[in-house]
Amino acid sequence: MKPIAHILADDTLIAPYAGASALPSLAGRLPAFIRQQLATWPELREAHNGLKQSLYKKIFLNDLEVELQHNPFRMKSSSAQVDRQSIEKRPCFLCPDKLYPHQRALAYRDEWLVLCNPYPIFAGHLVISHTEHRLQEIGSCLGAMISFVADSKGMFETFYNGPACGASAPDHLHFQAYPAGGGIPLVPQVQLLLAAGMGLSQTDAMHGQGACFAGELDCRAVFICRSPDSAALEAGLIRAVSHLKKVTRAQDEPLVNILIAADGPDLIGILLPRKAHRPACYFSQDGGHMVVSPGAVDAGGLLVLPRREDYERMTRELVLGIFSEVCHGKDIFEGFSFQ
Ligand SMILES: [Zn+2]
Repeated sequence: MKPIAHILADDTLIAPYAGASALPSLAGRLPAFIRQQLATWPELREAHNGLKQSLYKKIFLNDLEVELQHNPFRMKSSSAQVDRQSIEKRPCFLCPDKLYPHQRALAYRDEWLVLCNPYPIFAGHLVISHTEHRLQEIGSCLGAMISFVADSKGMFETFYNGPACGASAPDHLHFQAYPAGGGIPLVPQVQLLLAAGMGLSQTDAMHGQGACFAGELDCRAVFICRSPDSAALEAGLIRAVSHLKKVTRAQDEPLVNILIAADGPDLIGILLPRKAHRPACYFSQDGGHMVVSPGAVDAGGLLVLPRREDYERMTRELVLGIFSEVCHGKDIFEGFSFQ
C-alpha cells in the first residue's frame, strides 16, 4: 500500500493521526478539523446552515420514540441510484484523488482518511474512507469503527451501512461518524434499556469479556454486544454477521447496519439485521410514494425525509410498516449460538 502522503497532494492532508499515543488526541483533533473545513469549504458551510434549518418532530412507536428530520439537502443521498450499473458509471466521490476542491482529509491510522460529509445529517458528520478503492465490507472496517470510537474517547460514535442497505458508495469501503450525544436515538435508548434490565434478553457471557443481548424493538430485531475489550466486541459482532449470512443464505454479505458507541467504561455495538434497503412506498408510482431510504441512521430511529410532504404525513403506523418491511424480526436470531 502506498503511504498516505503519496496519495494526497500536500495541501489536502491536514495531519496524520498515528495512534492513541499521538498528541494532540483524536478527540481534540476532530473538532479542529471540522472547524477548518467549515471555514474553508463554502458548500459544506452552506449544507451545515441548511441542516440548522431542518425540521424535527418525535413520534412514539410501541417501545421507543423515533425522530423525523426534514432535511432537503439529503435528497441526493436518499434518491441515489445504487445499482451496479449506475455505480460503475459515476466517478467515486470517496477516492482520495477525486475529493471536492475544498475538501481536506485527516489521515487516520495507516489506511483511513477522515472527511467531512458534504451532505450532513448531523453537525460534524464525518465519513471515514479507506485510502484504496475497494468494496464495502464489514469485516474490513469493523475494527477501525471500534478503534475510532475508542481513540476519540467516546466523543464520536460510528455507524456502518452495508453495500445493499444504505451505503451510497457500495464500491468504496467506508464508515461514518458523528459527535456522541443522542444523534441516533437507538444508542442512548439501548443503553437505558440495558441499565434498567428491560426489553432485551442476555444471550451469552462472551467468555467473561462482556455480554450479548438480543430482542426486538418496534419491529426491528437488534443484537447488542457490550465489552470493555475492542477485540471481543468485534468478534461478537462478526459472529452475529456469520449467523445472519447462514440463515439468510446470503451469497454476499448479509444486509446489516451497525452502530458503535462508548457506554461508560465499555464499548457497545448494536447490529440491525436488514431484509430490504428501501420500502415499497419508495417505489410506489401513485400518491403513496415517499422518499425514505433507510440506512443505519433511519433504522436507528432518526428518519431522514428530504421532502416536506413526507415529513408532514409520516405517522406511527407508517414508520412501523417501514421498519417491518426493511428490518428482520427477532426470529432471525433463533438458534444462534454464541459459544
Ligand atoms: Zn473509490
